[in-house]
Amino acid sequence: MERPTESVVDGSQASPPVHPKELPAVDRLLRLPAVAVLLAEHGHTRVATEARALLEGLRTQALAGALTLADIETDALAAAVARRVGQRLAPRMRTVINLTGTVIHTNLGRSLLADSALQHLLAMMASPNNLEFDLASGGRGDRDTVVEELLCTLTGAEAATVVNNNAAAVLLSIAALARGKEVIVSRGELVEIGGAFRMPDVMASAGATLVEVGTTNRTHPADYERAITERTALLMKVHTSNYAVQGFTAAVDEVDLAPIAHAKGLPLVTDLGSGSLVDLAAWGLPREPLPQEKLAAGCDVVTFSGDKLLGGPQAGLLVGSQAAIGRIRKFPMKRALRMSKLPLAALEATLMLYLRPERLTQNLPTLRLLTRPVEAIRALALALLPAVRSAVAPRFEVTALDMLGQIGSGSLPVERLPSAGLAIAPVQKKGAGRSLDALATALRSLPQPVIGRIADDRLLLDLRCLEDASLLLNQLPALQERLA
Ligand SMILES: *Cc1c(COP(=O)(O)O)cnc(C)c1O
Repeated sequence: MERPTESVVDGSQASPPVHPKELPAVDRLLRLPAVAVLLAEHGHTRVATEARALLEGLRTQALAGALTLADIETDALAAAVARRVGQRLAPRMRTVINLTGTVIHTNLGRSLLADSALQHLLAMMASPNNLEFDLASGGRGDRDTVVEELLCTLTGAEAATVVNNNAAAVLLSIAALARGKEVIVSRGELVEIGGAFRMPDVMASAGATLVEVGTTNRTHPADYERAITERTALLMKVHTSNYAVQGFTAAVDEVDLAPIAHAKGLPLVTDLGSGSLVDLAAWGLPREPLPQEKLAAGCDVVTFSGDKLLGGPQAGLLVGSQAAIGRIRKFPMKRALRMSKLPLAALEATLMLYLRPERLTQNLPTLRLLTRPVEAIRALALALLPAVRSAVAPRFEVTALDMLGQIGSGSLPVERLPSAGLAIAPVQKKGAGRSLDALATALRSLPQPVIGRIADDRLLLDLRCLEDASLLLNQLPALQERLA
């Protein structure tokens, strides 16, 4: 915006500052034809509030002598009101393009829902449904039954229940089975998951006392056996999902731990974290432990997330024995952690996809992205190269490159996913860091923000998760503008 300055000698080139008194009243502003259109669309409250706030800002500017007649032309004022209304009504939550190379990215919303899950969710939310109504008897039903049978079919469990997320599932399991008593956990499994989920703190929140056994790298069956007293209520295993203990290590598998627990009449709970219902090795991916294996090994309860490898909505799934799940379901905290009908509908549809495992890589976005052949991603990188190159020229140069992505969300931290994409590097090595930041900022400021990652003085766009290339291509003119 041009401002009149003291140094302007020729008064004809800059209009004199506007006095606050020259600003229109709100009512006059609202009567402008362009503003009337806004009123018709959005109603009086929003438009009048924004018009008043706009005038307030202009008054401050005018008092500072920083307002010109051009700023308060009717067209400019009407456009400014429209802009304010538009900004206020724009949702803060927006879709972004995930080119980070991390498929299940916690900060970017984790798993994408399958089409069938979206459709089921929409249909169930737009209408009354039988969430807690037994259509056979006409009496009250239990929302758990929506997914319990499916979860039992898929994992071989006797019983299942669901809560808000896996952190809640762990908290609830410990509280229901061990409140006021002791829970034995290996020192090698006292995990911290991003976002303040730390096993010792969860234990305290649940009102149980943590008893650590073994060492960071090695824990043996005898460590558990020695720690069991009359105060013990539970033995617990935690999948070390976001780190790996390597080298001279030993951990006690559920197969060996379950008999130790059961000999003393104690339950064994495993927090699996991600937990996949299908063996990813079938698609050449790194293997994650399956809930069904842990149950077969003798676990009384296995908890895992709905929106990690399962590929569904945020949810905490608990599968296990009738006795343990029954106690968990009856525990009062369950009501506070219960799942909403929104994710429940999405979860049911997602679980149903697992009834047809051969179709999973088509129908489940998470698995579709994870199994995307690297040759296809490479071909996409080459196809996009010329357009991206010309959009970021001359400041940056672009190359198509093989890169390593990851599954994400704490699963398989040491395993890398071979992938491909574009690497964008500043031509000028001087100030390269600033240039890269500017590029990353420009990409994030696009109508549908593009999120890449910076490594080795380059901005990497991993294309594994870009299924619709036009989302990127259509935004290249805007990117070019922002970089100019
Ligand atoms: C991710 C994770 C959790 C938390 O699960 P949310 O669904 O994010 O609440 C708990 N334990 C482990 C081992 C995890 O990997």
